[in-house]
Amino acid sequence: MPYNAPEGTADMLPAVARLWRSTTETAAKLFAAYGYEPIDTPIFEMTEVFTRGIGEATDVVGKEMFTVRSGENYKRALAAGSDEGLKSKQKLSLRPEGTAGVVRAVVQHNLVEQGAAPAKLFYAGPMFRAERPQKGRLRQFHQIGVECLGATEPTADAEMIIMLMRFYETMGVPRQNMRLLINSMGDDACRPAYRESVRQFILDHEDEMCEECRRRAETNPLRAFDCKNETCSHVMEAAPKITDNLCDDCRTHYEAVKALLDAAGISYIEDPTLVRGLDYYTRTVFEVQVTEGMGSQSAIGGGGRYDKLAESVGGRPTPGLGFALGFERMVLALEAAGALGESTKRVDGYVACVDDSVRAAAFDLVCAARDAGLCVEMDHQGKSLKSQFKMADKVNARVVIVLGPDELSQGKARIRNMRSHAEKLVDIAAAKRLLSQFGGQRVGGASSPINIDTVFSFENDDKE
Ligand code: AMP
Repeated sequence: MPYNAPEGTADMLPAVARLWRSTTETAAKLFAAYGYEPIDTPIFEMTEVFTRGIGEATDVVGKEMFTVRSGENYKRALAAGSDEGLKSKQKLSLRPEGTAGVVRAVVQHNLVEQGAAPAKLFYAGPMFRAERPQKGRLRQFHQIGVECLGATEPTADAEMIIMLMRFYETMGVPRQNMRLLINSMGDDACRPAYRESVRQFILDHEDEMCEECRRRAETNPLRAFDCKNETCSHVMEAAPKITDNLCDDCRTHYEAVKALLDAAGISYIEDPTLVRGLDYYTRTVFEVQVTEGMGSQSAIGGGGRYDKLAESVGGRPTPGLGFALGFERMVLALEAAGALGESTKRVDGYVACVDDSVRAAAFDLVCAARDAGLCVEMDHQGKSLKSQFKMADKVNARVVIVLGPDELSQGKARIRNMRSHAEKLVDIAAAKRLLSQFGGQRVGGASSPINIDTVFSFENDDKE
């Protein structure tokens, strides 16, 4: 019986897998200009990293985490009827987001030494949330994220938001399709009182609010701002706003971030109800939404400052901030904007055989070209010459090198430039001598220092 990929997951077929790789390369290049270095952490962590770091009252931790158990520990828990007997290190979860794991790694390896420069890290990889799948909402999806630890100044917040917007622009998401929302969530000095006033507000209006929000009043009152229930959102419009309740330090920080964004020409919308789903945020939070063609999942990326997170995963107080952007949603946004470039396979050359007698010579030429770093293919299925040309077209070969017994007996091959359709006879030994100068490069395709047009002297044909 053929199997399908699990519900809520998607195979990245070559066109999307190519885009994922080029997207992560673009991110790496852009983020490097801002001083970011790569980090890769495990895709599962001790569950406590998430419950302590992100908070059990959040949806991603409270409802959506995938539990991981080794076979033995799974059986042990099953026999005991609960997980209680397992040690903390045996309770593992697939990461629902990247920040908690990266901050855990920063603390574990002491990457922010006292007095040293901030640690600036980026990651790219799969995240897992047991959500109800729908367009733009998967159970395994891919995020690219950055974390900056050790920076307190508002310039760090502004720099990060600018970097996110530049990334989207570089990827081709039209500026006019994006909406940047920002807010400040306050800190330990002003948030507790504000949280209490929202709790009280919900209790005062509990008759009008859904059961979930009534529960949220006790666990995570600010999340009531995100409730999809229309009555709840209507009621919450009158709830106290954090921006009216910020302490002086938080207000000064927020004003400075906005002034820096203004100076950089980044437009934004202040949204005092933007609380984001995770508990760890303090002060600046931001989210990028796409207005066109995204259905209900319009958030393509977001993040914020989390000055308390390092402590909650056992580190010393370390200010931090970060963002994560969803790859699949960015692809939807590009599609909706008609900005998703065609991703096609491209090879430098295709070596075609007129008959079987030249196959070994063709193979030899292909090997020499590949060793020089060129991207070339040949037929391995005994196809007719016509079919081989079709194959060459399919992989967008720049040139087709046709080896026939007559030409080969004179040491020659016929080369066709697939764009100009120019053809010429070339000397195989001379081409191979040139290739051998680059032998051992093995760098492949685009990054090869050698150009197929040079080897087969087609340089001027494209200008015809
Ligand atoms: P969050 O960690 O929830 O702030 O998510 C950051 C970004 O990841 C979002 O803006 C989305 O683009 C993406 N994202 C979050 N959850 C999912 C999901 N279930 N499926 C696809 N993308 C997601």
